[in-house]
Amino acid sequence: MMPFAIHRALDASDAVRSFKANQQDMPPAFHAGGTTLVDLMKLGVVQPQLLIDLGALQASPQIAVDAEGARIGALSTMSELAAHPEIRSRWPLIAQSIEHAASPQIRNVATIGGALLQRTRCRYFRDRSSACNKRLPGAGCAAIGGETRELAILGTSTHCIANHPGDLAVALTALDASVVVMAPDGIERHIAVADLYRLPGDRPDLDTVLNPGELILAVTLPAKAWNTTTYLKLRDRASYAFGLVTVAVSVRLSNGVVDDIRIVLGAVAPRPWRCEEAEAALKNHTINPTTATAAAALCVKDASVDVHRTFKLALSRRAVVSALLSLRSTA
Ligand SMILES: Cc1cc2nc3c(=O)[nH]c(=O)nc-3n(C[C@H](O)[C@H](O)[C@H](O)COP(=O)(O)OP(=O)(O)OC[C@H]3O[C@@H](n4cnc5c(N)ncnc54)[C@H](O)[C@@H]3O)c2cc1C
Ligand code: SF4
Repeated sequence: MMPFAIHRALDASDAVRSFKANQQDMPPAFHAGGTTLVDLMKLGVVQPQLLIDLGALQASPQIAVDAEGARIGALSTMSELAAHPEIRSRWPLIAQSIEHAASPQIRNVATIGGALLQRTRCRYFRDRSSACNKRLPGAGCAAIGGETRELAILGTSTHCIANHPGDLAVALTALDASVVVMAPDGIERHIAVADLYRLPGDRPDLDTVLNPGELILAVTLPAKAWNTTTYLKLRDRASYAFGLVTVAVSVRLSNGVVDDIRIVLGAVAPRPWRCEEAEAALKNHTINPTTATAAAALCVKDASVDVHRTFKLALSRRAVVSALLSLRSTA
């Protein structure tokens, strides 16, 4: 590992100021739980000369819930959030997605901000001897023509086919959540989680729309009332594994008919993949095997696969059908 310095930020303003003041060849990195960052530093994938430790931000209360919704501090741990009684009762989708992620030990340390900004698990990205446009722009992409079964089938480009592997962002997208971020000049802005992630295009090195040095302060959740929600994660083994396909669905039914719905696929695209055409097709209809199957087909109609990822087409369709039909019994 390359030598690095640590600055323990006093508060959010100090964190963003320190980032701005220390722009070197290798930009600084915010350090939250470190479960992604330190891993990538050990692999030599990222080599910040300065870590800005966010631990002091954990001192302020992290989770506030009222009639308008919830504000969750970015330094809240995944365990803390999943165990919060009001979050569990009003937004059970969040707890479900978190409890499907990583291991209890990791969730005790990993934070919400870090979960949203975790990097792809593409094996070539994590292997410095492989060509990777995300790690080194212009280097090429060893995944294309290589082993791709864990990678994306939607929203890819000829420069990168990596996926966003996380669970929480998928649930937050299905709940219309936003992030509050602070820029290096101290100005705050809100970004819908649905708009946080970039498609790779010809700049796969940029995962999100955040500018360098922007700090996630919090996640906000609207109080919007969904009748019911569900989270489904399909993976190679039943625990401690990233998803091959995940689905989050939130629905509001009125007399059994869909009034409003969010269908979001995870692990199959560079960002949580909202299936807006499928949502529109289900609006004002009941959920039944015929409408669910048609909606699932719309979710993956623009997918692009090679021989290693063909199975993900059928798996994604079945996952969406299964998630939708499961809602009928709980709504
Ligand atoms: C073995 C293993 C299995 C895992 N399995 C899963 C899984 O099944 N599902 C899943 O969803 N995740 C999984 N993860 C990923 C895990 O959820 C993330 O590593 C974790 O959430 C990152 O949080 P952290 O606080 O440790 O972030 P860090 O490692 O500290 O940071 C991660 C990135 O986010 C940046 N960052 C952190 N906080 C902020 C902030 N507030 N503002 C701006 N930038 C910030 C950092 O600079 C860094 O680039 C797994 C991880 C491991 C190691
Ligand atoms: S798919 Fe993306 S992350 Fe993986 S090797 Fe190619 S450019 Fe890198």
